[in-house]
Amino acid sequence: MLTGTIAPNAARFNVSARSPESGILGDANCGGFFAAAMRKAGFDRLIILGRAEKPSYLLLEDGKISVLPAEGLWGMKIIEAQDQLKVRHGAGTTSAVIGPPGEKLVRMAAIMTGKKNAAGRGGMGAVMGSKNLKAIAARGGETIEVAQKDALRALRVKQQNDLKNSRVVQVLGKVGTPLLYEVSNRLGAIRTRNSQDNFFEDTLNAEEIEKFSDKMLACTSCVVHCRHRNTLGGEGPEYSTIGLLGANIGIASMEQVITLNNLVNDLGLDASSIGTIIGWAMELYQRGLIGDDLTGGPLRWGDYETVYALIEDIAYRRGFGDKLAESTQAARFFPPEARDYLIAVKNLPQSDPHDVRYFKGFALGIAVASRGADHLRNRPTLEVFKLPDEVRAKIYGRANDPDPTGYKDKGLIIAWGDDIFAVTDSLGICKFVTRGFNSPHLLGYEEFC
Ligand code: SF4
Repeated sequence: MLTGTIAPNAARFNVSARSPESGILGDANCGGFFAAAMRKAGFDRLIILGRAEKPSYLLLEDGKISVLPAEGLWGMKIIEAQDQLKVRHGAGTTSAVIGPPGEKLVRMAAIMTGKKNAAGRGGMGAVMGSKNLKAIAARGGETIEVAQKDALRALRVKQQNDLKNSRVVQVLGKVGTPLLYEVSNRLGAIRTRNSQDNFFEDTLNAEEIEKFSDKMLACTSCVVHCRHRNTLGGEGPEYSTIGLLGANIGIASMEQVITLNNLVNDLGLDASSIGTIIGWAMELYQRGLIGDDLTGGPLRWGDYETVYALIEDIAYRRGFGDKLAESTQAARFFPPEARDYLIAVKNLPQSDPHDVRYFKGFALGIAVASRGADHLRNRPTLEVFKLPDEVRAKIYGRANDPDPTGYKDKGLIIAWGDDIFAVTDSLGICKFVTRGFNSPHLLGYEEFC
């Protein structure tokens, strides 16, 4: 509802479809600049039915919609495809695109905009691919009407000041979500080698990114700027990518993690699912449940070159990569006990690097999240920071047990998170500025109203 207006961090769009990864209703939420561009092109929402006969893309412009042939675009990776759309329709064109994995119906394929922003969860890129839809490009300068302009402007100024004075916003603007890695690692709560361990190297701490980061970037109307521009040609990584393409598969070099991050983003894959699925395959190999006859060669923890090649093989459905491209459904190629080592709920691989055996609130959250094992439905991040009792009571509306390893009051916290994140997603506001996600001082129902 607020996307593209001057409301703080109102940058997001949502994609919903039956998920090819889980088989149930899926959706993915994404920041960047596309959502505002789509509204300025005159469209609040699109319902896409059926399938084009040939590879195509949609152009949204000044309230009109055209279906155009994707000749010359099909097969391109994410950055190249967006650049090509700018060449065709002008530098002011912003687009959401799929890469080769979406075209080849890889169940972990994402829809991407910019170098890194991903509607990543649930294989929404494969849904676009199944419709022969390579991209949605938007351009136009329509004004987004709001009922009370002056009131919204005054609120924006106030909220911007409040947010800038928030300690957590200041830290996010400096190091981004990777700040969570060190905190969780110290607690012994980082998924490591497919959760066989819960502690990994400190070479993946946030300060290591500084060597490869030359700027912090923002989405539309963002006051935080939480996204790194890295000097290896991409953006990120986030905490989830560091955990899942680092500790979870045994890679301790930040440079290698950033390179893998850039690779999955430019191919158009969900970094969370792919890190979980590769970690699963590595443990199956370690335990002898799968062998070289299936994998085509050794699959060892921390083997960067093999992981790099395997990600490309998944994207293009080659060799063993073709099997893993099925995500959790690859279990049908493995012995029955392989499922015992799969970290997933409702057939969706777990997205968060937290080892939820430590955080009981997180464990409940991913167990009940509607789209499967996912932290963005109800993530109780504040569990990590151990806040004073009175602050917790103020957030959740009544006193509650602060012990992240205990079971008491976790239902209250998760239900509270589920409600406020549903509101945030509906408004199109980034969760990072939502009360309860990172800080008790950020936006809540009162501000949303
Ligand atoms: S806080 Fe980060 S993810 Fe959220 S709108 Fe800003 S840059 Fe985008």
